[in-house]
Amino acid sequence: MSLEILERTDHNLKFVVSGISIEMVNAIRRVIISEIPVMAVDEVIILKNDSPLYDEIIAHRLSMIPLTTDLEVYKLPRECSCGGYGCPLCQVSLTCEVTNTTNTPIEIYSRDLNSNDPKIIPVDPNIPIVKIDKNNKVIIEAYAILGLAKDHVKWQAVSNIFYRFYPQINFDDSKCEKCSDKCIVSRMCPEGLYDFTNKKSPILVEDYWKTCTLCNSCRNECPEEAIKVGWKENSYIFSIESDGVLPFKAIMKKTFEIFLEKIDEFVEKLGEVEIES
Ligand SMILES: [Zn+2]
Repeated sequence: MSLEILERTDHNLKFVVSGISIEMVNAIRRVIISEIPVMAVDEVIILKNDSPLYDEIIAHRLSMIPLTTDLEVYKLPRECSCGGYGCPLCQVSLTCEVTNTTNTPIEIYSRDLNSNDPKIIPVDPNIPIVKIDKNNKVIIEAYAILGLAKDHVKWQAVSNIFYRFYPQINFDDSKCEKCSDKCIVSRMCPEGLYDFTNKKSPILVEDYWKTCTLCNSCRNECPEEAIKVGWKENSYIFSIESDGVLPFKAIMKKTFEIFLEKIDEFVEKLGEVEIES
């Protein structure tokens, strides 16, 4: 298996992975999308709410605020020694008390949530929660716990994850000499991967595989059948978008921990099966 990173920022990771089967790539994608534990608000106590929104709407908004997560310290409630009752190893409290003393309405933002652990805070301080009028007050106590996205989407560690085949286009430009059209192919490619400037025949741009979506427009439109569109066997371009709850390094480390646990469990269960001959 080989891996080449194409792009890496705080919110985007793009890499080419080669030498593994599509089943394996899909298993990795599924683990990342549904099984990485992250923090999210799961319980809300609303002590005062003068805002125009119902308590339930505010609770839902709080639960959807992405929170930075520390997997080294916190445990899933069901795996915690407290039995899921709630202790400093499995729960974080976020409180919010805002009184509008001005003469105009004010907005309450995610930055107004005060966490009892400075490592577990909203990823973005500028997420609006609710607006309150003058002399109004909101007092909230919220409790965040680790959870899995297969139980609720608020615990999803990534905002988007997908892979696609590694495109491979074979282009025989010797066939272009006979072509009467001023290259319909270069006009039809939605990604603009063919360059026709000052050339008798178009050229396929370098690194076309990074943006090619395998739409087949070029192959379908070419009157001389000069183009063959295919893909590399066992090579995939993987893209992950994160909202910043966990760094990519932590996501990948946890993914393979979970993956290996699943394989061990599968082997163990397989050993228990009695096969009748
Ligand atoms: Zn606990």
